[in-house]
Parts: sequence; structure tokens; C-alpha cells
Amino acid sequence: GYGHDLGVTTLGPVTETAQTERSLILVKPDGFRRGLTGEVIRRIEAKGYTLAALAVVTPTREQLAAHYAEHEGKPFYEPLLEFMSSGPVAAVVIEGQECIKGFRSLAGATKPTEAAPGTIRGDLGRKWAGTVDENIVHGSDSPESAAREIATREPAARSGRSRSPPVPSGPSGALHTGGACGAVWWCVVSKPGHALGCCM
Ligand code: UDP
Ligand code: MG
Repeated sequence: GYGHDLGVTTLGPVTETAQTERSLILVKPDGFRRGLTGEVIRRIEAKGYTLAALAVVTPTREQLAAHYAEHEGKPFYEPLLEFMSSGPVAAVVIEGQECIKGFRSLAGATKPTEAAPGTIRGDLGRKWAGTVDENIVHGSDSPESAAREIATREPAARSGRSRSPPVPSGPSGALHTGGACGAVWWCVVSKPGHALGCCM
């Protein structure tokens, strides 16, 4: 999860059908610093996806290590973590049929130089000096990544509390956020009494 001090909130079940997806979008520190958060959200809403949660937060290294676990050991990994923890990001959970793939179409190719005009990265991004490609947005690449990324990865050591937050009650698909771990957690109820992706 990417938020602090949101308080406990139940956002309720997804609004379309059982196949409706959720994706974690981040307006990365470059996009946030440049004041592009509104433009990114405008494009998401114009496309027709729904905003399910919004927060502004500076990601911790612990959150980023979990978020980018698949890239550990790659040459751009350290610069990527450095860049992503360099300032606030806007974290947005979006919702809608096929929104994971759909947002990646809106975002465009990873490298802004190659991203097609019309896309967020193609229209608003460019190559700057440095190893890491600063490319304005992150979007989940699969339902599994989305569930993992929406979950908070605050380690127990930070909060000094239990590694297991209470499993919230609520209907299937309910998205919860809260401060139960001494940090914010977000999770989605998979079936009553069971939750996917609570913080660890
Ligand atoms: N990245 C980079 N150089 C690369 C590949 C990736 O700097 O050769 C950065 C870039 O910011 C990218 C992030 O690492 O957005 C995660 O990489 P991924 O391949 O997952 O790209 P994405 O899913 O963001 O398009
Ligand atoms: Mg990726």
C-alpha cells in the first residue's frame, strides 16, 4: 500500500462485475514534481476507469523492494529505488474491466523516447541524464502484481506490531485501507473473512 494516515475506510465492492479488475497506478516522483498528477488522472477518467483510492506518499525502500522484487539484481535496480524514493508519488487504485492492460496502453512503452505519441510517456516524457528511465507512471502488469502492489509491505519492525493485521469483514471485493499495522494497509476481501494482500 502507498499511503499514510488515511484512517480506516471501506470502499466497498467493485462496481461492475466479478471480472472487474483493479490496478495500482503510481505517478512517479518525476511526474509528481512536474505537476502531472492531474493530467494522468484526467486521462484515466477520460478512458472511463473509476478511482477506488488515492494517496500521496513517499515510498519507503522496504515498500519499493517488495514492489520491484522482480527487478532485483538488474543494472537499473538501485538507481530505480533511489529515484522512486526521491519524493512523493501519487498512488491511485483504479478499477474497471481490463483496466490493467488498458492503463498500460495509456502509459505507453517503458522508454519515453520510444513511447508512441498519444500515450502518457510518449506525450509527457523524455530521456534525461542518468541510468534510470524516468517515465512518469507505474501501472501493474497482471492481476497477481496488482494484488501484491496494492498490499502494504511495511515490515513488522517498523511498526513494532503484529505481522498479521485483522482480516476485515465485508463482502467479496471490498477494498479496505487502514492503520492496523502502525502503517497503512490496503487489502481486498477475497471471500467473507478472507483477505488478499494485507500488509505483512
Ligand atoms: N527501467 C529502467 N531501465 C530499463 C528498464 C526499466 O530504468 O531498462 C525502470 C523504468 O522506470 C521502469 C521501471 O524500471 O518503469 C520498471 O521496469 P519495467 O520493465 O517493469 O517497466 P514498466 O512495467 O514500468 O513499463
Ligand atoms: Mg513493470
